[in-house]
Amino acid sequence: MRLITTVREMKSLARETHAQGKSLALVPTMGALHDGHLSLVRRAKRACNVVVVSIFVNPTQFGPGEDLARYPRNLEKDLSLLAPLEVGVAFAPGVADVYPAGFDSFVEPGALAAALGGASRPGHFRGVATVVLKLLNIVRPDAVCFGQKDFQQALLIRHLVEDLNLDVRLVICPIVREPDGLAKSSRNAYLSPQDRQAALALYHSLQRAQELADAGETDAGKIVEEMKRVFAAEPRIALDYAVLVNPARLEPVERVTAGCVALVAARIDATRLIDNWIIAPPGTSDEARIQLALARGREA
Ligand code: AMP
Repeated sequence: MRLITTVREMKSLARETHAQGKSLALVPTMGALHDGHLSLVRRAKRACNVVVVSIFVNPTQFGPGEDLARYPRNLEKDLSLLAPLEVGVAFAPGVADVYPAGFDSFVEPGALAAALGGASRPGHFRGVATVVLKLLNIVRPDAVCFGQKDFQQALLIRHLVEDLNLDVRLVICPIVREPDGLAKSSRNAYLSPQDRQAALALYHSLQRAQELADAGETDAGKIVEEMKRVFAAEPRIALDYAVLVNPARLEPVERVTAGCVALVAARIDATRLIDNWIIAPPGTSDEARIQLALARGREA
């Protein structure tokens, strides 16, 4: 694996790779890698000849008072996790290289960025869209992999690719969880053992939504009420939102049907956690759930 730390070198390697007729897949990350990230890398390896994993804690997607300064950074450990996967390139540029003095152009995402996570984190998705477009322009990959874990982000990138006519295939990969159901996240490292236990409320509320749907409940209001009840029973957690939405536009639904998405966000002290679950009949695989949700066009 080659470690590249400058934009210039990355662009030149991308050019060489394309000139050799090899396909390139990009997996954008902020480092502090875990099995969730590694599952994206494995998927990227299936899609293309050369995989680039970017490791960049993007300052423009953090708001004032958020965890930019304390976000876990450990490049050496990340590289050791990537080594056995035989990744082509780890791309870990410096902040001043990505955002040089005088940097002044941003991607302004639309209505999708204002909902849910965008309401709690103003400017977050503007920063995400900007850095993703920059990474796509630097690496010029044939495929780019994102996780369902950040469902709103994945949808936003889908819009970015379509709206700006980007020539890249978007691959969305299932959520990797701990054995007890907690979604793997770099931010789980912030949690004390008690907080870690309390954090299970996110997964349990999503499971409750699926259980109710399995039992034939279609009233989204009733299901959301039950999801909120799971959080109410856990005093360490402050719920940000628990919603059942149409996956195309993230608007709340009245009736739950297959392909609707339950999304939750909550804080434990200063740690913000998110998770989601695509409602589908029992036995539907994670990949099939993603396809079910994505099959709904943007107008749906
Ligand atoms: P991050 O480093 O948190 O920005 O995440 C980088 C990519 O990994 C994003 O596309 C995330 O959606 C994805 N990701 C994060 N956690 C998980 C997980 N538990 N399972 C699968 N993908 C994940």
